[in-house]
Amino acid sequence: MAPTTLTRRSLQLAGLEVPALDITGGRAGPLLTVLAGVHGCEYSSMAALRIWARRLAGRELGGRVLAVPVLNLHAFRARTPFVVPDDGKNLNRCFPGNASGTLAERLAYDTFTKVVAGSDALIDMHAGDLVEALQPFALYDAGAREDRARDLASAYGLGYVIRQEPGPDRAVAGTSSAAAAEIGIPAIIAEAGGCGLVERAAVQAHVRGLDRVLALLGMAPAGLPDDAPPPTYLRRFLWLYGRDEGWWEPSAWVGEAVAEGQVIGTVTSIDGTQVHQTIAAPADGVLMFVTSSPAVAAGGLLLGLAAR
Ligand SMILES: [Zn+2]
Repeated sequence: MAPTTLTRRSLQLAGLEVPALDITGGRAGPLLTVLAGVHGCEYSSMAALRIWARRLAGRELGGRVLAVPVLNLHAFRARTPFVVPDDGKNLNRCFPGNASGTLAERLAYDTFTKVVAGSDALIDMHAGDLVEALQPFALYDAGAREDRARDLASAYGLGYVIRQEPGPDRAVAGTSSAAAAEIGIPAIIAEAGGCGLVERAAVQAHVRGLDRVLALLGMAPAGLPDDAPPPTYLRRFLWLYGRDEGWWEPSAWVGEAVAEGQVIGTVTSIDGTQVHQTIAAPADGVLMFVTSSPAVAAGGLLLGLAAR
């Protein structure tokens, strides 16, 4: 069999030159596209993709992998969490994008049309951002290929697997995985790591997840069994926002099971003398992410809770 080759590429996306690695195996197989750095400070996912893609070059591979370790270059360079600094828009709310929009919308459009479309599967790697603690999980969207997407999410091996449906209950719209699902590409968002750190365990979880995806797609042999937790399937993803600005203090943490009505945090005045708001769990569930910074704006995101 021909050896696997690795080619460094520079993708022209919305006027940015985005570094990518194009890894082609010695036999035919699917095209797997892997993105990281859609959010600029989610370092564990970026670090994992950088390591994994380079290692792939020395392995037997069927098909092709296109790996983009840092898509949102301006956010990465400026250390800007959540958004593209040029326009303040969240890139993962802009898919499938707009060719004549702002930078985030054009970057989404070019990524979707030039990189995602034509792929046989999409993995979009994330973590908690600069001020977010996170329990590892994978998310997929309802759609024609959702069984395959669910298989990818389960294979990634992060434990919690959340399904999202279009409609008013969906916590987030405009994601890469939702846009891919709409054109029939099985896609997942894989989350591990957080708080602006390169965490060894999270990097390893991502690397192993990508290896399991390769095996599921028949692109490489399965590795040795590891200690990945079995999937727990959840169908509701509830994001809680504060009312007032102030000092956010969670009293429950990521990975914790909470009961409906349980107090899970407060927003108090900066001087500590007034309780502006007591936050209670809206349902029984598990905390998937918690804003780790005490500084919250009026209407700011506090946490995400997944429920059955
Ligand atoms: Zn993210």
